[in-house]
Amino acid sequence: MSVSVDLSNKTALVMGVANGRSLGWAIAQQLLAAGCRVGFSYQGERLRPELDKLLAGKDGVWSQQADATSEADLVALFARVKEEFGHLDYLVHSIAYAPRQAMEGRFLDTTPEDWNTALQVSAYTLVSASRHAEPLLRDGGSIVSLTYHASQQVVPKYNVMGVAKAALEAATRYLAADFGEREIRVNTVSAGPMRTIAARSIPGFGGLYDKGARNASFGRNATPEEVGKLALFLLSDLGSGVTGQTMYVDAGLSIMTVKED
Ligand code: NAD
Repeated sequence: MSVSVDLSNKTALVMGVANGRSLGWAIAQQLLAAGCRVGFSYQGERLRPELDKLLAGKDGVWSQQADATSEADLVALFARVKEEFGHLDYLVHSIAYAPRQAMEGRFLDTTPEDWNTALQVSAYTLVSASRHAEPLLRDGGSIVSLTYHASQQVVPKYNVMGVAKAALEAATRYLAADFGEREIRVNTVSAGPMRTIAARSIPGFGGLYDKGARNASFGRNATPEEVGKLALFLLSDLGSGVTGQTMYVDAGLSIMTVKED
């Protein structure tokens, strides 16, 4: 089912598309289908061919390399946004990373270096990207990021990434307060397990995905398309009045303890 939203006079920046399975791409597809003009940022030049393939033949799109932890890259990225669009309506942050070793052992053994990397890439970049976006964002604009339930409950091996997601969710509320006067909304979408590159780097993700499908109230996992539709709701005027929230799209996984056989 497609949702009918007209975003033909709107502009968006989507940060963090690695390939066609990326949740950032699922969101971008909804924006593009609604007529939005969309710019993309990707982490390194090795990701460019994949993005170029996805964007081939699409109107009103452009892309630029930007490591979200680099101030210089963010300056250049938002200068490009200004040049291409003049302003910005929507910012999508779909970025996370923790060093693999931090997700293999015990949370107790997290090193300061791995803690800093995970928190900087996965939470602080929402703050820095929002700050760079601020002068370009039109009143009534909207910012959406992606989070995961390991912020609220222990998910084996998620470790410092669970802490980073808790920081992201708290940052969402503080950013929503700062942007409130201009009615620029800031929300985060808590997605159930999805098969993406980032997920594959989590040890034991396959088991988590299968158990998720069994335990969710729907008896299946949510889909990237469903993530895209919730993000579209939150970005567009359909979500007016909603800010500072963590909204779940997980086919009812987080509400369950154990399902009856
Ligand atoms: P993905 O690997 O497709 O996307 C992650 C993106 O982060 C990649 O494009 C990667 O290049 C980018 N990235 C990492 N470090 C970066 C940096 N320093 N600068 C710029 N970009 C950087 O995987 P995904 O699952 O689509 O992840 C997108 C978001 O969704 C993440 O925040 C992730 O935690 C969240 N999420 C994923 C799941 C899941 O099960 N896949 C569930 C809930 C939330």
